[in-house]
Amino acid sequence: MQTNFSAAQLADPHVAESEKILRKCVHCGFCTATCPTYVTLGNELDSPRGRIYLIKDMLENGRPADKEIVTHIDRCLSCLACMTTCPSGVNYMHLVDHARAHIQETYKRPMLDRLTRAMLAAVLPYPGRFRAALKLAGLGRPFIGLFEKLPALKPVAAMLKLAPSAIPSASPMAKPGTHAGQGAKRGRVAILTGCAQSVLDPAINDTTISLLTRLGVEVVVPEGEGCCGALVHHMGREVAALASAKQNVDAWTRAIEQGGLDAIIITASGCGTTIKDYGFMLRLDPAYAEKAARVSALAKDVTEYLAALDLPDPVRKPGTVVAYHSACSMQHGQKITRQPKELLAKAGFVVREPREGHLCCGSAGTYNILQPEISAKLRDRKVKNIEATGASIVATGNIGCITQIASAARLPVVHTIKLLDWAYGGPKPEGVSDAMLVAAE
Ligand code: SF4
Ligand code: SF4
Repeated sequence: MQTNFSAAQLADPHVAESEKILRKCVHCGFCTATCPTYVTLGNELDSPRGRIYLIKDMLENGRPADKEIVTHIDRCLSCLACMTTCPSGVNYMHLVDHARAHIQETYKRPMLDRLTRAMLAAVLPYPGRFRAALKLAGLGRPFIGLFEKLPALKPVAAMLKLAPSAIPSASPMAKPGTHAGQGAKRGRVAILTGCAQSVLDPAINDTTISLLTRLGVEVVVPEGEGCCGALVHHMGREVAALASAKQNVDAWTRAIEQGGLDAIIITASGCGTTIKDYGFMLRLDPAYAEKAARVSALAKDVTEYLAALDLPDPVRKPGTVVAYHSACSMQHGQKITRQPKELLAKAGFVVREPREGHLCCGSAGTYNILQPEISAKLRDRKVKNIEATGASIVATGNIGCITQIASAARLPVVHTIKLLDWAYGGPKPEGVSDAMLVAAE
């Protein structure tokens, strides 16, 4: 694609980066076929190609964002299916991240939208605040029907619907410290305890620590790590996103210096995609560029790490049929497609892949709160495809997808690590009945 930026514009490294990306696009439109919002809404401006044109026009003319571009960029899920499909290697992720930051800087949203976004940014990344908010959600639940009737309050209704009625207690295993490996030492890793996941389902990381230590891996929970920054990053709040990234880079650099790390284990693929991008996000900061690149290189999804470990035979041999839902951040963001399915199959599960596996379930960070209607359409489509597999359990590797799919599916949705842990001798995952897990001990 031809671009028309001035030398002064290209002196801004963010504009220069976007210009390089724009020039790679050859307008072929292959990406439209796999874009969930184009498939759902049928509008070219809600396709990757349409958004690329809008972003190009805004940046080239040095214009502040307007209502039209905000509408179509807000509808983008950042699912990155377009990047998997694109034959020209267009880095849509970095382009849309730049556009979102530009929108945040130059566009004044309506007051309720601003308040909702500010509240999400102030609550979700902080486990203590998120836990308190979930407790308060019970008070708002009787008003869901009323909020749904008022367009400006639909995000509040969506939030209340997603909030679980019972919240598990915080896990003592998530406190900073070291969990020693059993038997011969096979490695030393740090684990990201994260934010929303540690409140909604702390058992995911507990199970990961338990399985890794049984396999001989020492697991460190570093002092000072926090939210990865993905939630605010996707809202265009770059200052907050970079502050989170730096906090984690510092925490993990200390852990590297105090005993070395073979990997930084991440159990939510949405966080993994962002942490693997820290090297890019902090490339212009001389104090952090090198450290951030090292952290990104060490970041591994738990299934990526386990697949390289040469696992023993499972203790149980389940014949359970499992539908594997590949989160967008797993398959498009991190290009991890084989490992989770191969690990499940090796552990004795019969793995089925739902039709239209490339399409997003509609969770996408805060998307299911901020765009509840499109999100619900994508969720229902996803659930229909999952249920058509005839599986008795859904496995996936991202807490956002677990919450989203479980809000409509009739079968249990669990993190992949919980099924693997059970097959390797761990406890039965909560919410899964004996009848669903058929095993020969
Ligand atoms: S990131 Fe997803 S929703 Fe956004 S343009 Fe690409 S395919 Fe469409
Ligand atoms: S597939 Fe790639 S090159 Fe083709 S229109 Fe989409 S982004 Fe541009």
